[in-house]
Amino acid sequence: MRYPHTLFRVYGLYSSNMKTIDARFIIKKSGPGMGKGLFANKRIKKGEFILEYIGEKIPTSVADKMTSRYLFEINEKWTIDGSTRSNTARYINHACSPNTSAEVLEDKIMIFAVREIRKGEEITIDYDTEYFDEFIRPIGCRCAQCISKSNRLMPQSV
Ligand SMILES: [Zn+2]
Repeated sequence: MRYPHTLFRVYGLYSSNMKTIDARFIIKKSGPGMGKGLFANKRIKKGEFILEYIGEKIPTSVADKMTSRYLFEINEKWTIDGSTRSNTARYINHACSPNTSAEVLEDKIMIFAVREIRKGEEITIDYDTEYFDEFIRPIGCRCAQCISKSNRLMPQSV
């Protein structure tokens, strides 16, 4: 029977009930001055599904009044509050030149690799301007790209 099989496959790939301890990932301390981050435990191909950003679906009007950094807007009406521990995707740190991006598919936030990710490499995403201005800009961006830029601009010590 073709149809249930197909249905099962799609469900298996995108289900929010999928186990959160995924062998492809490891959560560990990120770079200096950073908290924890999500790292690839094996090579991930470009276009591969990473994780769903899971959490409670709340009205965007309510989310706009919250200060949590784990809010991911689906649209004007709905936002995912991803502060739950089971949301592995909340460990994905911001980078200005990231290796994943999020797509909204049927009101779910799905994260995909935008290029090949090496084993051991940190999984990163470019959060929107609002997030950047609120949480990143005040402390300065510490993504690999920005750190190498600031190192180049640093005066040589004599
Ligand atoms: Zn940066």
